[in-house]
This record gives sequence, C-alpha cells and structure tokens, in this order.
Amino acid sequence: MASYKHPCKYCGKLIARDSNFCPFCTQENPLGPMRCPICRYPLEDGAKICGHCGILLWSMCKSCGKETFLGDKCSNCGVPIVIVCPNPRCRTEQPPTGKKCIKCGKPLR
Ligand SMILES: [Zn+2]
Ligand SMILES: [Zn+2]
Ligand SMILES: [Zn+2]
Ligand SMILES: [Zn+2]
Repeated sequence: MASYKHPCKYCGKLIARDSNFCPFCTQENPLGPMRCPICRYPLEDGAKICGHCGILLWSMCKSCGKETFLGDKCSNCGVPIVIVCPNPRCRTEQPPTGKKCIKCGKPLR
C-alpha cells in the first residue's frame, strides 16, 4: 500500500494522508480545510483571525520565536503555549484556546 505523505496545514510537517490528527502539532483534521480551534468555523488560507469568533489564530512562541497556530503547544518546538490573564489581580497562566480566563472569567482578548 502506498503511503503518500502530505504537509500538515498547521505545522507543515509531512504526515500520512489518512491522518485524523497531526502527530506533531495535534491539530484535528490536519489535511482538510483549516478550522478555528475554538468554534470550528472554516478558515481562509492564511487567515490571521477567525471570521466567526474573531480569535487571533497565530501566536508567537516564546521558546523558539516562530509563529504557531493556536493550540496547546508550539507546532515548531512542542513547548506548551501559555498566555497570561489580562486581569492585573489574576494573571493566571493558561492555554490560549479559551475565550475567558479559567480562573476569573474575564475575556482573554
Ligand atoms: Zn501539524
Ligand atoms: Zn472561531
Ligand atoms: Zn516554539
Ligand atoms: Zn483571570
């Protein structure tokens, strides 16, 4: 059986064509149309924010300095991505995949 490999839409690494998840960046359906990880809205190629929920889709990895698609970890170096709650009395670190702070409930953007 031929095993052609295709680049993941999110991290660019070569993966099997029938992959349901990218083994490198863990995004779902890595060869289909890109979708917002928050609301699953389909995205244009090269979209910077989701056209439905408006969330910022790319963030800068503090570890390797490269842009990574919104997710729990960097698609380049695999380091977990955390953002800090903008509430000065909270400042809880958390994954960037929620709309509200997991602790104080304040919107994250
Ligand atoms: Zn990937
Ligand atoms: Zn969205
Ligand atoms: Zn990184
Ligand atoms: Zn908070």
